[in-house]
Amino acid sequence: MRIEEVADSGTRDGGSERRLSGLGVSPGIAIGPAHIAEGGDPSVVEVQITDSEVEAERNRFAEAVAVSLKQLRRLKAKTSALPDSAAEEVGYLLDAHLAMLSNSRLVRGVDERIARSRFNAERAVQIEIHEIAQSFAAMRDPYLAARIEDIRVVGTRLIRNLTKQPYVAYSGLPAGAVILAEELTAADTALMDPGRIAGFATVFGGAEGHTAIVARALGLPAVLAVPGLLEHAQPGDTVVIDGTDGCVIIDPSPQTVAEYEARRDALARERRGLARLRKLPSVTRDGVEVSLEANLELPIELEQAIANGAVGLGLVRSEFLYMNRDDLPGEEEQYAVFSALVRGMDGKPVTVRTFDLGGEKLARPLSEHSPQPANPALGLRAIRLSLQDRRLLDPQLAAMLRAAGDGPLRILLPMISTAGEIRRVRGALEQVARRLRRRGVKLPKALPPLGAMIEVPGAALAADSLAGEADFFAIGTNDLIQYTLAIDRGDEQVAHLYNPLHPAVLRLIQFTIEAALRRSMPISVCGEMAGEPRFTALLLGLGLRNLSMAPRNIPRVKQRIRGLDITAAARRARAIMDQSDTGRIAALLDDFNAVA
Ligand code: PEP
Ligand code: MG
Repeated sequence: MRIEEVADSGTRDGGSERRLSGLGVSPGIAIGPAHIAEGGDPSVVEVQITDSEVEAERNRFAEAVAVSLKQLRRLKAKTSALPDSAAEEVGYLLDAHLAMLSNSRLVRGVDERIARSRFNAERAVQIEIHEIAQSFAAMRDPYLAARIEDIRVVGTRLIRNLTKQPYVAYSGLPAGAVILAEELTAADTALMDPGRIAGFATVFGGAEGHTAIVARALGLPAVLAVPGLLEHAQPGDTVVIDGTDGCVIIDPSPQTVAEYEARRDALARERRGLARLRKLPSVTRDGVEVSLEANLELPIELEQAIANGAVGLGLVRSEFLYMNRDDLPGEEEQYAVFSALVRGMDGKPVTVRTFDLGGEKLARPLSEHSPQPANPALGLRAIRLSLQDRRLLDPQLAAMLRAAGDGPLRILLPMISTAGEIRRVRGALEQVARRLRRRGVKLPKALPPLGAMIEVPGAALAADSLAGEADFFAIGTNDLIQYTLAIDRGDEQVAHLYNPLHPAVLRLIQFTIEAALRRSMPISVCGEMAGEPRFTALLLGLGLRNLSMAPRNIPRVKQRIRGLDITAAARRARAIMDQSDTGRIAALLDDFNAVA
């Protein structure tokens, strides 16, 4: 990643445009005024805790300090990508923030206040910050006065980490604003209204994390992992976000703006051209039909799924039901959502996934009662959490069973690693169905098909045993790559190692497909690989006939399918699977794509 200060061509008075680069995670061009999403005090409620809750509250605070230190160290590591003078200045500032969180008056003061005054941790932080700021102000020392702002910034970071409140409030922004932030969670991003917000860029984040997926779902151009972003921009600066090339330009010259406006118009024309494919069948040149379904990250994408010609919903990520709220969604609310999707698809199949919550995606109402795991990606999450906490699983299964009465619905289970997990969910499904029938709810005689996400390498290797329990498979390449290659999909520092064409990943995919095909069991891919035309020939060549992807990717993949010969694709896939070198694999695939 690099930063270039590009001298202005003289068209703006003494100005200069700054070009920063990062990971382009959601294609498209946005041009608009910058809104820096750091400000605003998170709201804090005061809670008097009991004696028996003190220890847990102190631990919660200690965890928030640890998370804040980790964030600051990551920020510090990024300063090396800045020009020397900026790196030094930002480095000093971050060192000061780190010191404030390391056995400091602030940390000790909050800890004592929780024990002494029985305040909840966030309220204790708020009071402590206020008192420290007042004592600094009373000393009338200009150095200490300057530190007051730092103390407040550190306090806000602690409170946000305690409350898990979204970093951003988007109301009151000028239309067409571009959001710049240190980091945005998927929940923060889901609050963005694409009708009002043009795009966004952040300092942290990997290309396959859920923030990136939500950005693509909303069609918002986005660039993540941009070092120096917040040091180079002021609120109100004009900013260009190029989510295709991974470039952010602050204070662009009029010439640059004109160039990017022309590119934005060309992209819109291309999209309109692809829209004409909507009504054409998804069939290869040699007559093999391929089902293209849509992934839904948010319900508003239903319209797009239909508009892009999806023949079903291959993955409904139900996590959106939990975002930005403090209570758990009940059966009725979930039924209303699933039923609307089933009815909206008008007889086409809808695959709803049970909650993939846990780790960093832990819902707020649950996180209060469970400690931050040391290793979130490997912890109590997804189906493991649902099976442990039936408050999550049962209302979901009930809602899905009822929605299955309104049209074809399949149930998909995330992060399956053993056949026993599928068996236990099937047992729970039958139990919930009996309960519903006793309540007088009419259910279809056959319960909905129960499928397993194959996204843990062990599940792929045991695909033949899982195939004995599941009714269908959906390969989640995003996590499969993450776990196979030990690459955190949301961490920009290792993003360059995230490689779908690694032979280990391809072999796991092949193994899974073969296990399913031997039993004539339905199988699809619903990870991001499915939506990239570069991989289409390989996936079809390996035997897949069902791909599920972000709705706006459907036309491009369909175009690729319509130009393909399946016999040639299968031959090339065999040649690729004989290789063990990633570079050779990429070359074989790209050469094939260039001519076929
Ligand atoms: C995957 O892991 O590939 C997948 C589709 O699930 P998610 O991206 O929601 O983890
Ligand atoms: Mg996954």
